[in-house]
Amino acid sequence: MLQKDQPQAVRTRIPPSPTGQDIHIGNLYTALINYTFAKKYKGKFIIRIEDTDRERFQEGAEKKILSSIKAFGLDYDEGPDIGGPFAPYRQSERLAIYKKYAKDLIEKGVAYYCFCSKERLVKLREMQIKENKKTKYDKYCLLNVKNANERIEKKESYVIRLNVPPNKKITFDDKIRGEITIDSNEIDDQVLLKSDGYPTYHLGVVVDDHLMEITDIIRAEEWISSTPKHVLLFQAFGWEQPSFAHLPILRNPDKSKLSKRKNPVWASWYLEEGILPEAVLNYLALLGWSHPEGKEIFSLQEFISLFKLEDVKPVGPVFDLTKLKWMNQQYILKSTDGQFKKMIKDFSAIAREMPDETFLKLIPLLKSRMETLSDFEKLTSVFHGKSNLVSFDEKEKQIATELYQKLSEIKTWKHDMIFLNLKEVMSKNKIRMNIIYKIFTGEERGLPLPETLEILGKEKSLSRLIEVAKK
Ligand code: GLU
Repeated sequence: MLQKDQPQAVRTRIPPSPTGQDIHIGNLYTALINYTFAKKYKGKFIIRIEDTDRERFQEGAEKKILSSIKAFGLDYDEGPDIGGPFAPYRQSERLAIYKKYAKDLIEKGVAYYCFCSKERLVKLREMQIKENKKTKYDKYCLLNVKNANERIEKKESYVIRLNVPPNKKITFDDKIRGEITIDSNEIDDQVLLKSDGYPTYHLGVVVDDHLMEITDIIRAEEWISSTPKHVLLFQAFGWEQPSFAHLPILRNPDKSKLSKRKNPVWASWYLEEGILPEAVLNYLALLGWSHPEGKEIFSLQEFISLFKLEDVKPVGPVFDLTKLKWMNQQYILKSTDGQFKKMIKDFSAIAREMPDETFLKLIPLLKSRMETLSDFEKLTSVFHGKSNLVSFDEKEKQIATELYQKLSEIKTWKHDMIFLNLKEVMSKNKIRMNIIYKIFTGEERGLPLPETLEILGKEKSLSRLIEVAKK
């Protein structure tokens, strides 16, 4: 048992909603910070699935979200698939709990039944818009309905709403932004329990954060406006409030909110593209936070030891794919040959088929040119024939013939000799390296060519030239 004067063990959480095809990269950022914060204080990191929005629910999304989080190495201590002391961790399996707490609030007089029809709510809204008023529920049922229990017994459809007190200042402390105060007149009498018996986000999140003993709520900035509702609920239940921190939302380079149109948003896209999970996490770590020594490349372990929530800057950091790819390149460059071989072979079937002898010789060349693991196949096209698909004009065919004549005369097939001969053909024909690249690889750039041809071997290099000349 915890002693009273003992500090509470840190418990953080992310509650993703299974409404998209995977976890959004912005939510992966939130997950990273929650994970880091929990690890820093030797606490627990929890995943809870908020699947109460049945209209937006997507089959298979939960599985994908969990597998992506694991693929990035953000191992969680409790969750829907692994269980834990506060199971179940899927809100759709906790409906009876929310109902009980919603009724408790009615008994305490801080919530009320509402029987208003959709039509009435639409009309009310239209009127308020016309009159330039804030659109919110007008407390009609709180003020007028006296026989709620009877109506419920007659199976009339209802929701439960929070009775937000007027003219009150609601204040909470945000660990990143300081004190935030919101006027209660700005807050709608939020629906807590829907007519289908599901809780809304607001009720579900507060009940579960309390029951699951969450100590620190760290989430994206877009939830700031919901927090006063949660504060009211914590107060209404008489529960101790966790601490809050709202992370900046990631932005596109043009400062708009990170969106599908401008950047890939699903976390697994980055892995499929061949960006290493550690590079993605390192990059995310630097959004809104900087290393005290200005370092750009550091391990997750180092991040955990240095991170402080208070150091996160609240302004929207730009998510820049070019910078992320650069960072990935740094990880590729610093990998050992063994690590490099493993990551490429895990990634690409073509790499697995390549004879070890060739692969090992190519490693230094590959490391110097690869930004993502998916570059491998393009860069090594001469070795696996994927380059044969392009077409060549007459001039290129003629150059291929010339190259054939020059290169076939080379006695010792070494890159310096190859280089001299390539250079001769280039200056004689007044062409640049990109044409030579295209002839050999089908691409306009690639691995250092003389070295690559040395590894490819004389015979194969020459037969490639014959093929091009004949095309
Ligand atoms: N379900 C919300 C989301 O998907 C959770 C917000 C929160 O952390 O409270 O981001």
